Amino acid sequence: MIPTMICWLLAMESGLSWAARWTVILDLVTILVFTVTEGRLLNQWNGWAQLAILGITPWLLAIQRMRDERLLKTQQAEEARELNHLSDRSRNLLSIQHQTQKTERQIAEITDAYHVTREASKTLRLTELFSILLDLAPRLLNVKTLRLIDLSTDRWQVLRAHQLPDGQIVMVGSSPDVPADYATQVPSQTERVIIQEAASMDHGYRDPIGWIQEGDSRFSWTPLWWNRQLSGVLVVESLAESQKKVLLMIANQLSLQLSRILLYQQVESLAVTDALTGLFVRRYFVERAKEELARAQHHDLPATLVMVDLDHFKQKNDTYGHLVGDIVLTEVAQLLQRNLREVDLIARYGGEEFILLLVETTLDQAVPVAERLRQIIELHPIRAYDELLSQTVSLGIAGFPRDGQTLEALIEKADEALYAAKKAGRNRLMGSHL
Ligand code: GH3
Ligand code: MG
Ligand code: MG
Repeated sequence: MIPTMICWLLAMESGLSWAARWTVILDLVTILVFTVTEGRLLNQWNGWAQLAILGITPWLLAIQRMRDERLLKTQQAEEARELNHLSDRSRNLLSIQHQTQKTERQIAEITDAYHVTREASKTLRLTELFSILLDLAPRLLNVKTLRLIDLSTDRWQVLRAHQLPDGQIVMVGSSPDVPADYATQVPSQTERVIIQEAASMDHGYRDPIGWIQEGDSRFSWTPLWWNRQLSGVLVVESLAESQKKVLLMIANQLSLQLSRILLYQQVESLAVTDALTGLFVRRYFVERAKEELARAQHHDLPATLVMVDLDHFKQKNDTYGHLVGDIVLTEVAQLLQRNLREVDLIARYGGEEFILLLVETTLDQAVPVAERLRQIIELHPIRAYDELLSQTVSLGIAGFPRDGQTLEALIEKADEALYAAKKAGRNRLMGSHL
């Protein structure tokens, strides 16, 4: 019985954990060994019963094991499917996140571009345009220095700015809070090379960015075109590869705004009167005033120059908008013109500044006239759309020949007096002899 039991145990073990063919072999061996060693028992029914039990039990085990294994496999396959599904979903989630970030970045870029355009469209001066760019630059571009080379007139000029440790970008030659009126400088050697390269770049070139190394600094530049001609170059230092698109976008906007400024300057240089106020433009005033002063000098006649500047006008623009500001400006211009004599000269000197030349008028005679103008403006209600507003002005006065012999000297004196009037509290007239 022992050999049969050993074979049977092996067959059972094989049914439990070995391959099926071993179960077949060991099962057959068990039956064989039983038949050989215990063949006599087969004469009785319980002998056959023993043989049947020995032969069947390993198979029962094997079948049970195979069923368990199949079940396990099915479960594993299901789990794998579940895992795949989960990882697909997390991949989807990641790609959505990525897409969202990209969209957010694009929105930020478009918003910035909109701000560049909106802010820039308010200005008609290159330095102001550059200042606006500098305000926006820290958010748009992470660069060490920024330059705008203006080639639109015969006199080339370079506006330069650099980054402070706090990330702000300020114009060279200016204090951080007060940008210099004109940080004009002639191009350096490197800038001249850049200008040459930009000039030889084909118009219509896609992604027109060039670069040049100067010591440790790497400058990237992109041309600004107007009427298919080079009107300027935007130069930045240490531009990251990823920011090239932003640089091109800014250059595009700058080109557009620069064209606007140039067009305006062209038109302005042709015009004698200012489009908004209808007064003479500064250039024409200067020509005429010089003639008047020459005449005064020749005939020994007096004349008085007055500079008028609107008080806190920026605030008005900020509160009511530029359109309302324009109406206020025009109204003040008309008040000045209506209350002067035909022979007097009056012009728009700058944004919200006017200049008057009272001919054949001494300083003493001019002071009450100027004072009356101040009062008229102060008391005059201005209707602009739905607003009823008032506006005051400060005035600076200078007499010929007492305060100066030339127009430049008189303007300087009147400007000083105007500055003093502003400092003294505005809405007043001042002059060096008052
Ligand atoms: P202050 O009393 O010191 O002169 O203050 P201010 O605000 O009048 O002076 P500031 O020089 O700070 O601002 C002048 C403002 O005049 C800023 C500019 O936007 C505005 N301005 C210049 N030209 C025009 C124009 O044609 N239309 C309008 N609406 N605003 C103008
Ligand atoms: Mg003002
Ligand atoms: Mg002013």
